[in-house]
Amino acid sequence: MAQGQQPILVLPEGTSRYLGRDAQRMNILAGKILAETVRTTLGPKGMDKMLVDSLGDIVVTNDGVTILKEMDIEHPAAKMLVEVAKTQEDEVGDGTTTAVIIAGELLKKAENLLEMEIHPTIIAMGYRQASEKAQEILDDIAIDASDRDTLMKVAMTAMTGKGTEKAREPLAQLIVDAVKQVEEDGEVEKDHIKIEKKEGAAVDDSTLVQGVIIDKERVHPGMPKKVENAKIALLNCPIEVKETEVDAEIRITDPSQMQAFIEQEEQMIRDMVNSIVDTGANVLFCQKGIDDLAQHYLAKAGVLAVRRVKKSDMEKLSKATGANIVTNIEDLGEEDLGEAGVVSEKKISGEEMIFVEECKEPKAVTILVRGSTEHVVSEVERAIEDAIGVVAATVEDGKVVAGGGAPEIEIAKRLKDYADSISGREQLAVSAFADALEIVPKTLAENAGLDSIDVLVDLRAAHEESPYMGIDVFDGNIVDMKEAGVIEPHRVKKQAIQSAAEAAEMILRIDDVIAASSSGSEDEGMDEMGGMGGMPPM
Ligand code: ADP
Ligand code: MG
Repeated sequence: MAQGQQPILVLPEGTSRYLGRDAQRMNILAGKILAETVRTTLGPKGMDKMLVDSLGDIVVTNDGVTILKEMDIEHPAAKMLVEVAKTQEDEVGDGTTTAVIIAGELLKKAENLLEMEIHPTIIAMGYRQASEKAQEILDDIAIDASDRDTLMKVAMTAMTGKGTEKAREPLAQLIVDAVKQVEEDGEVEKDHIKIEKKEGAAVDDSTLVQGVIIDKERVHPGMPKKVENAKIALLNCPIEVKETEVDAEIRITDPSQMQAFIEQEEQMIRDMVNSIVDTGANVLFCQKGIDDLAQHYLAKAGVLAVRRVKKSDMEKLSKATGANIVTNIEDLGEEDLGEAGVVSEKKISGEEMIFVEECKEPKAVTILVRGSTEHVVSEVERAIEDAIGVVAATVEDGKVVAGGGAPEIEIAKRLKDYADSISGREQLAVSAFADALEIVPKTLAENAGLDSIDVLVDLRAAHEESPYMGIDVFDGNIVDMKEAGVIEPHRVKKQAIQSAAEAAEMILRIDDVIAASSSGSEDEGMDEMGGMGGMPPM
């Protein structure tokens, strides 16, 4: 045991480690690069990105979180910013780019403070204080409103510049109607708004269906294509004779036994179909399979049946029609059936789809999104998802703020006053936080081809008069955003500032990055630990 002579290996060979300033510099750089990447997409005049994956599949988008998800990001600190975008997407559905660029700018400003030898803990603390104050200011400038006109404006603001230009207003109508329809006791379950997309028509041919569209066809051509006053059964068990669970051998010694055996199986199927038909059901959605013979009997009874329906669709069908999902065919009763004005199979761009429409007070609806090509439809779908998110947030909270950089400038202005009241070095961090928020109007201006310095100066001056002044990116003027109808939910800004601040704080507190060697290395047994790999060389 010649311990003294051998170096002690605490970490496995191949591990990379960055300490202190090196770790900070590297993490800040990664965050800045990421923010820089999505920056050009911000706002109505933002540009799109074309992302091509290893299989050659193309996504053309303007949506922050989609870009970050499609990019194969490896750096651990950069991944933390991707998380910011994902949280924003889950919580509100919009404001993903904003959240990431604020986080990037907070890191950039922190770098300057680090250069001034201010300790990262002080910066993190100052940022925490500033973020809390920013929330207070935001609450103060929020406007109480959730009337239809406000919801329309919120939806249109979220869709501006997202490939929906021509059809922004009709789409906003659909979205507001959809959200209002599924709202229950002031809460909106976004999952209850289904989005079905099909290319091959104009964006303004998109429609709202008071019910559910299922991307399936009837199981049997002998079934009706259209059933009015539909009585709908939802089953999540197969309609077939169960396979025996144990391996059983049946010995048949003469042909008549064989015949009897087959007849018995047929009888079982017939009984199953009869017990469905006897409830009065004329439409059947089955989550599992439907036996050929069962299909035949169902068709003969005039039932429109669909099989292998997704579980999520079954739930929506239940919400829309009021039907109960039943697990045992024998348990199905008349009271389990749901209703719809009409259920029909329609051909949309050469493909059959089942429309369950004209439901009474449905708590699940479907937006059928149309567009000329697959890529257009997908981008319109993302815009619609953002818009559903903001309308839902506004319905739930009843609070909005102005857009176009107005809240960021107002918060920055009041934070600077607040900073003056703080003693110690945190003051510098609070001021830096204030400056960082100005990245939003600055970027909106830059992306619109305006002179960002002029715009910021004008904006600051305008905020002496009113907290709602923002940039009209279409003509470069400073206008009252509330009057211009550019408004966003309070929650979008609240979440964006909060999660950006938290991510920046967390990254700043890191002074040691220990990364297992990346999976490409030949070190034995290290491969499973590649999660933190991919460190760029210094
Ligand atoms: P995000 O992913 O953060 O939602 P967007 O590309 O959707 O990014 O841009 C949102 C920003 O664009 C918000 O700051 C919003 O206020 C602003 N914005 C939207 N419409 C307008 C408009 N007509 N004029 C000025 N700014 C606008
Ligand atoms: Mg947006």
